[in-house]
Amino acid sequence: MSKSLLENKIFHDATKARAWLEALLWADGRVCGYCGTVDDSTELPARPGFYQCNSKECRKQFTVMVGTVFERSHIPLNKWLCAAFLLSASKKGISAHQMHRMLGITYKSAWFMMHRLREATTRLSRHGASQQIGLVDSDGNYFSFCDPAPLKATLRELDMNAGGALGADDTALSTGEGKTYLARSLAEEPFASSFIEGAATTRQIAKKLIFEGRRPRTKDERMVLNNYRAMQFIKARKDDPLTIPMLLELHKIVTEETMDNR
Ligand SMILES: [Zn+2]
Repeated sequence: MSKSLLENKIFHDATKARAWLEALLWADGRVCGYCGTVDDSTELPARPGFYQCNSKECRKQFTVMVGTVFERSHIPLNKWLCAAFLLSASKKGISAHQMHRMLGITYKSAWFMMHRLREATTRLSRHGASQQIGLVDSDGNYFSFCDPAPLKATLRELDMNAGGALGADDTALSTGEGKTYLARSLAEEPFASSFIEGAATTRQIAKKLIFEGRRPRTKDERMVLNNYRAMQFIKARKDDPLTIPMLLELHKIVTEETMDNR
């Protein structure tokens, strides 16, 4: 981390910090953080940094901190800027304890600042990563979703490991106890999935269908077998790119001879 950057006055002087933030946020005119009125406010000489909104409906006094993460805090703005800079500049992350020592503030204040700053960056990154799904509510707002990296990692972990052999180490599972475990979990998954969908089949029958090749006699049994075949299909194609024909094929396998409206 560059020392000279930290020597910048905005990190040491609250007035300089305020001037810097005002120039940054109000480049196109002073904005009232309460009502959004632009360029129609009066400076209050007795209270440096405070401005009176001239909008008749508002008339509130505001500072540049209103509506930002720095709002309603007794910690001087220069310390806030320093904390934000340290957080963004440190590659390995920084602890509240380090922050407390470096900025000469209490541990409690350091913890509070980090919490607020992290929350704000999370919100910002979510906003940037959100994807619209093409549906609009009655007020015209788009529905959107966001799958941040940690969520993606968890979902992948689930995909790979929650379904028996899909992500298992083949060599460890091809012999002895591993084989028994694999067979059990492979039979368990289609059984559990079908059970969730309402199929009334016992585990014994499910295993006969899957491992002894017994033909399904009811629609429920068919469902169990279909789920098993779908899993085999997915396992065989797990490295192929996802395509519409592949999804249709999968759909066909899952629903074969189980639909009422054929
Ligand atoms: Zn206002």
